[in-house]
Amino acid sequence: MKITEKQKKMKTMIAAKDDVNLWHDWRWQLKHQIHEIEVLEQLLGVKFDKAQKVAMKKTMKTFPMSITPYYLSLVDADNLKYDPIFMQSCPSPEELIRSNEDLQDPLHEDKDSPVEGITHRYPDRVLFLVSNVCSMYCRHCTRKRKVGDCDYVPSKVQIKKGLNYIRQNPVIRDVLLSGGDPFLLNTDYLDWILKELRAIKHVEIIRIGTRTPVVLPYRIDDELVAMLKKYQPLWINTHFNHPREITHSSEKALAKLADAGFPLGNQSVLLAGINDCPRIIKALNQRLLMNRVRPYYLYQCDLSEGLMHFRTPVGKGIEIIEHLIGHTSGLAVPTYVIDAPGGGGKIPVMPNYLISWSTNKVILRNYEGVITTYKEPDSYKPIFCDRKCDVCKLHLDLNPANEDKSIGICSLLADHDEQISLTPQNNPRLKKRKVKKNDV
Ligand SMILES: *Cc1c(COP(=O)(O)O)cnc(C)c1O
Repeated sequence: MKITEKQKKMKTMIAAKDDVNLWHDWRWQLKHQIHEIEVLEQLLGVKFDKAQKVAMKKTMKTFPMSITPYYLSLVDADNLKYDPIFMQSCPSPEELIRSNEDLQDPLHEDKDSPVEGITHRYPDRVLFLVSNVCSMYCRHCTRKRKVGDCDYVPSKVQIKKGLNYIRQNPVIRDVLLSGGDPFLLNTDYLDWILKELRAIKHVEIIRIGTRTPVVLPYRIDDELVAMLKKYQPLWINTHFNHPREITHSSEKALAKLADAGFPLGNQSVLLAGINDCPRIIKALNQRLLMNRVRPYYLYQCDLSEGLMHFRTPVGKGIEIIEHLIGHTSGLAVPTYVIDAPGGGGKIPVMPNYLISWSTNKVILRNYEGVITTYKEPDSYKPIFCDRKCDVCKLHLDLNPANEDKSIGICSLLADHDEQISLTPQNNPRLKKRKVKKNDV
């Protein structure tokens, strides 16, 4: 595998006597994670001024630093201030600026947790945090509250509690392993977790969220891939934010995973000063497609503590999507989402294409600004759906276990559901109404 001159130099600085090949050894990379400003300066060949150094160290007391030599080697030391690699990995005093809207656990991942490690927010799938270890601490981490807590690996006893919850809830057909980074578990441990999950009949798919292809690509080795292959269908989602992160090494890691047959997706976070530009996101997504990675979500930056300086207006995300739809392959267009504070889950926010409609026509616009009409069918006969699929002419052979109650907007749309409105809890108007009733 290739190693750049810069990487060779860094490697020699870190461990002069070690074998050159060690650069590609993920355990070596972990052993030599960078946690100190002085080491950072030495490896980058820069000198921060005193005030800056003090400020960085102060930040690190609240939000520690950890960077793999590999990821650090991608920094452009001549352009630190605007370097997307540096900004994602090195502490900034701005992280300590508190804002009123900052929340400890904005997504209520801890509150929506029936057992430790599991977040069960959606009807048919769960998030399962199986590792609290990362090879690089992203400065924009949504779980920043937990970063560096203690880099611990949950015990088998703890994992078993999560597995039990999944086992006892047959509605769960999709399990997302996340963390921390599940690929930082040792291969045998992850093998055990996957084996236990696969033994649960109702678990149809397993997904793994990992940033290792970006920050520790050497982790994707033959041994890991061979182990993962036993547990198909397995979907792997990674987290590239900038085209500069796509290197020879990360491309090799992605190719190994794609060749082994895992569908690959990418979840980017929209970050001010890093990728808040339509051309950067377009270039990134096109490069990802060349590596058989499908851009899946573009996240609006969460309201976690210490992220204020990374946040963009929502309008920036809409503008970016506007520059993608129609302009490039549909495969390069992710869904732009805001993860709702308070546990509301991911809410898609996309540009509007539907301009108006009447009983027989809809008015649409396309990406070029062409305004057009679509004529509704004259002859469409709506069928009253009573959800008796076994006698329906569309004949869907449903497994009764997969039937769920309609909820939310779907229950308002459903023919068979009598619900005509959804009302917020503690609605003052309704409260008044109750009082009146009692009075009578
Ligand atoms: C993102 C997320 C999921 C998965 O959502 P998809 O839209 O299916 O990718 C599941 N559970 C939680 C808690 C999540 O945050």
